[in-house]
Amino acid sequence: MNKLGAIMRFDVLTLFPNMFEQVTGDSIIGRASQNGLLDINLINIRDFSSNKHKKVDDYPYGGGTGLVMTVQPIYDAWRSTFDGTSKPFTIYLSPQGKILSQQLAHNLIEKKHIVLICGHYEGVDERVLEEIVDLEISIGDFVLTGGEIPAMALIDCIGRLVPGVLPSEDAFLEESHANGLLEYPQYTRPETFMGRQVPEVLLSGHHANIKKWRYEQSVDRTRNKRPDLLVDK
Ligand code: SAH
Repeated sequence: MNKLGAIMRFDVLTLFPNMFEQVTGDSIIGRASQNGLLDINLINIRDFSSNKHKKVDDYPYGGGTGLVMTVQPIYDAWRSTFDGTSKPFTIYLSPQGKILSQQLAHNLIEKKHIVLICGHYEGVDERVLEEIVDLEISIGDFVLTGGEIPAMALIDCIGRLVPGVLPSEDAFLEESHANGLLEYPQYTRPETFMGRQVPEVLLSGHHANIKKWRYEQSVDRTRNKRPDLLVDK
């Protein structure tokens, strides 16, 4: 069951639950879990190993370097996250997956209950993917040592979109990637730093002009920093 009132539940299957403590305990995401908006459960895959030494990995069939995470402990850890009827949406963090985007994060909020499987070493036995994984997600075309950092990125990215987690939902209506553009430049006090002035229009109090300036800046900087975002349109 979701924590009472929690809008989004994540069950993270990992060999290294301690890695998550800072991200799930601190700052905006930490506060959202304390307030019951997010329900984040860290599940140690090793606890489910039926091997008498709690082994969770083994040599790959066919040879090759490194170790592969075995299917049994992952399957049993996954089965512990639901009662047998309401199968949670199950994601394997993987460099072979669909690249994480703001749009994908938005779509995933609908799932309400997500299980995240973090691989390590050479990854997981392919039968994990065949039997329980609905979607593989990558955080970019590079390889990390484990799925923990990608899982934290995903929880952070989805978590902040959950209603009530950010102080104002306007925050993500205008930010980068919300509408295919990067966000405009932001300034706060002081008005002058090392001779660099805050743009005059932002001090004018003229809302229509500020809006227009911000839109133009958004388009300009998207063209300069990420022209691919405009080409794709
Ligand atoms: N041998 C695998 C890579 C294993 S990397 C291959 O060549 O495809 C070890 C683990 O780190 C993976 O199981 C995965 O969970 C995680 N990982 C590594 N890079 C990642 C990325 N870019 N995005 C998401 N997860 C990643």
